[in-house]
Amino acid sequence: MRSSIPQESGPGECRREKPSRLQGVLPQGHRIRLGRLFGIPVEITPSWLLLSGLVLWSFWERYTVDFGHRGDGIGLLMAIVATVLLLLSVFLHELAHALMGRLRGLKLTSITLYLFGGATTASDPGNPADEFLFTVVGPLANLALALFFWGVTIAADHGGVAAMAQVTGEAAWLNLLLGAFNLFPAAPLDGGHLLEAVVWRITRDHPRATRVSAMAGAGLGGALIGIGVIELLMVKGGLFEGLWLGLIGYVLLEGAKAEKTRAWIEQVLQGKPAYTLLTEHAPPVTSDTSVGWLIGAEFQRHHVDAVPVEDHGHSVGIVLAQDALSVPADKRFDLTAGSVMRSLAALPHERVDASAIKVLQLLATNPLVVLEDPHGRVVGAVSQRQVGMVLDRMRYMGAQQSV
Ligand SMILES: [Zn+2]
Repeated sequence: MRSSIPQESGPGECRREKPSRLQGVLPQGHRIRLGRLFGIPVEITPSWLLLSGLVLWSFWERYTVDFGHRGDGIGLLMAIVATVLLLLSVFLHELAHALMGRLRGLKLTSITLYLFGGATTASDPGNPADEFLFTVVGPLANLALALFFWGVTIAADHGGVAAMAQVTGEAAWLNLLLGAFNLFPAAPLDGGHLLEAVVWRITRDHPRATRVSAMAGAGLGGALIGIGVIELLMVKGGLFEGLWLGLIGYVLLEGAKAEKTRAWIEQVLQGKPAYTLLTEHAPPVTSDTSVGWLIGAEFQRHHVDAVPVEDHGHSVGIVLAQDALSVPADKRFDLTAGSVMRSLAALPHERVDASAIKVLQLLATNPLVVLEDPHGRVVGAVSQRQVGMVLDRMRYMGAQQSV
C-alpha cells in the first residue's frame, strides 16, 4: 500500500517512558486528563489532536479520491471509523503495557497519547524478565488486533459489506505495521527495550544493556532521517512522507540520547549513598516559625526545596518551598510552618545511607524524597532539581578526568 499520507511511517511509535530518565522526550507541556482506566490516568497532549486531524484527513482523502465515495458521505463515515479504529489500536497497545506493568508490580503514572503515538509511564522494572514482559505485550496487542480485524474483514467480505471490509482490512494492515515497527530492536522503541532485557539478562549489566539498545536507536533514527532527506529530494511528491520520516527519525534519535543519559546516570550513581544527592540542607525550624521568616531566612538563603520542622527535638513534618511560596504575601507572617508543613507520612522517605538509585526511582513519581538519619530525624529532602545539579557536577568532573 502506497500513499502520500503518514500511515506507513506513523503514527504508532510507542515509547516506554520511564520518568527516572530525567530527560525524556515526551512533550512536557500541557496535557489534558481524559479520566482514569483501571485507576491509571489517561492523558492526551494537544499534539494528539493534530495527529487525529491528520489521520482523519488522510483517510478521508483516500476514501473519497481512491475509492470513489466522493460526495456521498460514505467516504467521510469510513474515514471517521478508520481513524477511531487506528487511534483505539494505539491506545490498546499502551493499555496492554500498563496492565502487564500492574501485574508485575510496577508503579504506573499515566498513559499519554501524543503526536507520535503513545507512552506508558511506569517505574523501572527491577529485572530483565519484568522488562521483557512489560514491553512485549504492547506489540503483541497490535498483532492480535491485526488478526482480529483480518477475521472481521473476511466476514464482511463474505457478507458483501465492501465499505466495512475496506476499513477493517486497513485496520488489520496498520496494526501489523504498528506491531512490526515497534518490534524493531532500537531504543526507545519497544524492540529496543526487548533487546535491552536480553542483553541485561546475558551480561547482568543494566547500564551496558541500555547503551547497546540506545546505540541501535541512534542508528535507526539516523537512517530514517537519511531516508527522509532522500525521499524529500529525489522522490516526486515525496515531500510529506520525507518530512514525516525525518521527524520520526529525529524523535528516535532524541529518545536514544535520553536512554544513553539514563545508562550514564545509573552507572555513576551505582553504589553511591542517598546523601550524595543532598546538595543543600537547611537547619530545622520549629512549627511556630512564621512562613515569612521561613521564606526569607531559609529558602532564599539556603536555596533548599524543603525545610524540616522539629518540635522538642522530634521531626514532625517538612515545609516544601512551593507550599510556602504559594501563601499570599500579606498572609506570610500570620501563618506558621506548622500550618503549611506536610506530614512525613505523606512523603516517601529513605535513610541517608540508602542507595542513591533507589531515591532516584522514588523521585520519578514524587516531587521529593525525605532523607532521615538512622535515628529517624529528618536531615533534608532531595528534589529532581538537586539531582540535576549533582549530575551536572559529576558530568563536569567526568569530562575533566577524561581530558
Ligand atoms: Zn509499546
